[in-house]
Formats: sequence, structure tokens, C-alpha cells
Amino acid sequence: MLLEFKDVTKDYGRFPGQAPVVVLHHLSFQLADGESMAIVGPSGSGKSTLLNIIGALDTPTSGQVLLNGRDVSTCSDRELAELRNHTVGFIFQSHHLLPQLNLLENVLVPTLAGRPQAPAAELEARARQLLQRVGLAARLQHRPGQLSGGECQRVAVVRALINRPKLILADEPTGALDHRNAEELANLLVELNREEKVGLVLVTHWRELAARMSRAYELIDGQLQPVTAAHDRR
Ligand code: ADP
Ligand code: MG
Repeated sequence: MLLEFKDVTKDYGRFPGQAPVVVLHHLSFQLADGESMAIVGPSGSGKSTLLNIIGALDTPTSGQVLLNGRDVSTCSDRELAELRNHTVGFIFQSHHLLPQLNLLENVLVPTLAGRPQAPAAELEARARQLLQRVGLAARLQHRPGQLSGGECQRVAVVRALINRPKLILADEPTGALDHRNAEELANLLVELNREEKVGLVLVTHWRELAARMSRAYELIDGQLQPVTAAHDRR
């Protein structure tokens, strides 16, 4: 199993005399290798908190998170860094590319942390091949400032994939794009999930995109409710 949540609760602000803000409430679910899953839900419902806990950027108040079979709570700092860098890849609403580096260099940034996973020439070849895959082969030497928002977001996807993660965590990745670019990025994520056999947990407000994942859930009251087709047609 790629990912397993066992009775996970997350709350904020346990102050005397104050009720905690419960964000995740006894949440249990599983995601198999290569599977995709969408999470929709209103702003403030805890979607980003959930992704951050999956990616070991945040810790649950109680319960167990197993990533690639490992209980995240028992990992050393070193193992956690390894996990964040090699087991998962993050994509956010904004691309967070480094403005002073060209595209090829930006894509290779995650390969610089931790021990090298492959010879430099091999990593660069993979970066070039992935940038070609997203239609940016002619732009390797360009800097992010010379690209459109949609192009930058495609580079961010490539950067998330460079270390061959088992799971991509995408937090509203199309949220800042116009419709045409959003459509293109959505297609790219769906195709890469299939081609690279990488698992995908996608937070989105876009119900049509959510429906293209193997499973779709709405985060309500700290629980994941399956999104039904009827619900989708609202
Ligand atoms: P979403 O991504 O669905 O918009 P978030 O996961 O960002 O929701 O936030 C869920 C809830 O948790 C919100 O009510 C938010 O105010 C609260 N929250 C998030 N981070 C913190 C924090 N560090 N301290 C206190 N409350 C937080
Ligand atoms: Mg959020």
C-alpha cells in the first residue's frame, strides 16, 4: 500500500477553556500504488492540512500515517527528509521556481539534496526528456520570468517528478491558471499518473478534474465523503 491513514485526527489550538479546531476527525483511508484520488471541499475544510500530513510536512494529533509501508511518526529526521525528497513530489498553486535559475537547473534542484540517486548525466537526461514531454525542450536555458504561468506550472510538475517519487501531492495546481492552461495541466497530470505509474492525491475545486481521478472525495467535518455523480451534476 502506497499510503494508509489509520484513525488520523488533527486539531489546532488546544488552549485551556477553548475548544480545539478539529480539522481531520478519525480519518482512515488507503491509496494503492499508482492510484489517483481527488479531494474537494470548501476553503478552510483542511485539504492543505491533509496533504501536508501525507507529505510529512505536518504531523497528526493522533492516529497513524503509513507512507510506502513506513510509519511516518517513527522516522528519524534524516528518514523524513529522504521521504519528503524522494518518496513524494509536491505541486502547489504557484510554481515556486527559482527566478535566477534556468528551467533545466530548476528541475534538477530536488536532486541536489540528500545522497545522489543516479549519476548527474543520467539525472540531466531525465530532466531533458521530461521537459520535452511537456513541450518545453526548446526552452531549457530560459528563466521562469520568460515563461507563461502555464509553462512554469508544467516545469513545476517536471521538478516534482525528477526524483521518481511514488506519490505526487498537488494542492490546487490549476487554481492560478486560465481555462486553457488549466485544461492542459489537468491532462498532463492524468497522463503522467498513468505513464509514470506515480500515485496522485489532488486537491481541486474543479469537479470535472476530480471526476477524472480513480476516486473522488469531499472533505467535510474532518471526514472524506465519496463524491457521487449526482453530487457532481449540481
Ligand atoms: P484548506 O486547504 O481546505 O483551505 P487548511 O488545511 O488550510 O484548509 O486549513 C484548515 C483549518 O485549519 C482552517 O480553519 C485553518 O484556519 C486552520 N489552520 C491551518 N493551519 C493552522 C495553524 N497552523 N494553526 C491554527 N489553525 C490552522
Ligand atoms: Mg488549501
